[in-house]
Amino acid sequence: MGRPSNRSAEDLASRKGEWHADRNLNMCIRLSFLAIGAVGLLTWPVRAWDAVCHSLVSQLALAALPKDFPDFVQGPAEAERIAFLANVPDRWRSVDPWLRQSGGSWTDHFFDVEQIADAGLDIRRVSSLRYDFVVSFAAGRAANIAKFHEIDPAKNSDHTQEWPGFSPWAMAEYYHKLRAAISSWKAFVEVGGTDGEIFNARADIVNMMGILAHYVGDSAQPLHTTVHYNGWSGANPQGYTVWRGFHSWIDGGFAAKAQLKLPELRARVTPAEPIRVMARSDGRDPFFVAMLEHVIAQNARVEPLYVLEKAGLLGHGAQAITAEGRAFISEQLLVGGQMLACVWLTAWQSAPVDTYLRTQLGKRADPVRSRKPASP
Ligand SMILES: [Zn+2]
Repeated sequence: MGRPSNRSAEDLASRKGEWHADRNLNMCIRLSFLAIGAVGLLTWPVRAWDAVCHSLVSQLALAALPKDFPDFVQGPAEAERIAFLANVPDRWRSVDPWLRQSGGSWTDHFFDVEQIADAGLDIRRVSSLRYDFVVSFAAGRAANIAKFHEIDPAKNSDHTQEWPGFSPWAMAEYYHKLRAAISSWKAFVEVGGTDGEIFNARADIVNMMGILAHYVGDSAQPLHTTVHYNGWSGANPQGYTVWRGFHSWIDGGFAAKAQLKLPELRARVTPAEPIRVMARSDGRDPFFVAMLEHVIAQNARVEPLYVLEKAGLLGHGAQAITAEGRAFISEQLLVGGQMLACVWLTAWQSAPVDTYLRTQLGKRADPVRSRKPASP
């Protein structure tokens, strides 16, 4: 017998909120704090609280970057652009229904960890290649269909409900795009790029940092890592809330009521450290594995969040904002910001040499020499 679907249109709409932070990634979080010099960010215009949380994560990440990180991404205009871009993927999925299934529009914003075991897969062995994972998950889901909620075709015209979400893959894919952007910029700077090429290469880096900020932020919101994303789903022996407004409340309602602000959070930021991305014996992308572990760690925060709600400590309705609720949400925002900074820093430090582009630029700079044989 399949589980009843809890993915009504209302549920799906509630997932349009977003933001957030993550929990450990040991290598990332340390003391001290770097001021961001972007005073303009403090007055960045807000359109919705969910957008505020995403921009908060991006601003916290900028504050965590080391001083030797290129300053062209840290000026007020660039910081404001990154904060703006950190909300763009939510806008992709809010307007055009034909975008919903494509990467980045809907299913890239979350990853329901529990579904992987339900499909008979070992979450720590899933392929870092998105489509290889899709094939294995589809087969596993079909073989274990009784463990999955029934899907109402009338509410699934975009065919997204069959999937657990792909946020670890999305983060890895945008991370590698950011690395490519950095590689290109270095080539243009070092091998005779024009002023226009260098300007646009810089803009591409800022663009990729901003889009990546969205998915890293999403993954720090525990409800983006679970089948219990909007009220507890299925067996519920602890009597956790099944409130269909829960996701939205965590996405932004709490932060709005608690008036969480950048200065108090930024004071707790610690300098970013690179994520270890050593080649793996299983051949998987080590960065993907790091992001997968990050999401699994956030999934461990799901039940504690429901415990807080059950205890009346999350401030919704007539409840007061509590220190416990404030600490939980603040920490998630901070972990998201810290992780994002670590991701950006790792991309910067590990960007490969764009040999092809450098060769082409070299030929352009010296077309006569480039036609000569490499050796006499
Ligand atoms: Zn999102």
